[in-house]
Amino acid sequence: MTTDHKQWGLMKLALFNSFRLGVVVDELRIVDVTDALPEHSDDALTAGWWRGLCRDFAELRPAIERAADAGEPIALDRVTLRAPALNPSKIIAAASNYHAHVAEMHGVQQRTLGKVDSWMMDFDIFLKAPSSLADQGTDIVLPPDVRAAGFEVHHESELVVVIGSGGADIPRETALDHVLGYTAGLDITVRSNGDRSRRKSYDTFSPLGPWITIADDGFDAADLDIVLNVNGEVRQNVNTSDLIVDVPGIVAYASSIMTLEPGDIIFTGAPPGVGPIEPGDELDSFISGIGHLRAHVRE
Ligand code: MN
Repeated sequence: MTTDHKQWGLMKLALFNSFRLGVVVDELRIVDVTDALPEHSDDALTAGWWRGLCRDFAELRPAIERAADAGEPIALDRVTLRAPALNPSKIIAAASNYHAHVAEMHGVQQRTLGKVDSWMMDFDIFLKAPSSLADQGTDIVLPPDVRAAGFEVHHESELVVVIGSGGADIPRETALDHVLGYTAGLDITVRSNGDRSRRKSYDTFSPLGPWITIADDGFDAADLDIVLNVNGEVRQNVNTSDLIVDVPGIVAYASSIMTLEPGDIIFTGAPPGVGPIEPGDELDSFISGIGHLRAHVRE
């Protein structure tokens, strides 16, 4: 099993406050390294600098590391962490990517749809609206129309890939060269009929964070524990070694369909244990080597 202790040494990049760039230096502290960037804007709508950073990270890394060493650490509990993504061209998500989840979905679909949609049991990818992104610690808002219709809204606690250098038709053998790093994401989902892109794209339905652990030799995305805790109870608990299609396979497949752009986000699939969330629920999604993504649920 991968221990968090072993992986803390890996670089962790965060966005905080007015989209400042930070390096998380330990469990409690962050350093503002924004001044090491060639360009920056506090305006999320003109955030091309972020995608440039994702693309050029290897080149910018030495300056960022120097700034992290030289800067004054700030207590993490005194900053507002933002989703580590700014205007991604797309959020891709993998479906049906753990055998035990595919098995449980037969029962979930019988209960929520009254039938089983067999096409949904095969691995594939779909898109979520980038406007569904939500920051660490913010609220997941249950849509009134969905509540009124009595549909269940489910948690899916997933490993998320952040694309560095993009590309089309990326071979599986070199796919990891295109990965900037990894973060945690909640793929919040309405269990009703119809297209995934609608059921998973409501505002706040893609909490992301708390930061990006940069992909390095010491980080093995194929051996990470994902544990989702809801109100103190473990609901999802899996190791990414159980993925049906692993990260290189997902990147290769997605890029065979659509060009991946720097800063694109890829959810890797729901572990078994999906279930309804209710107003007042507190979600804590932990991934080893990354950290805790927290969210609160409200009407
Ligand atoms: Mn999902």
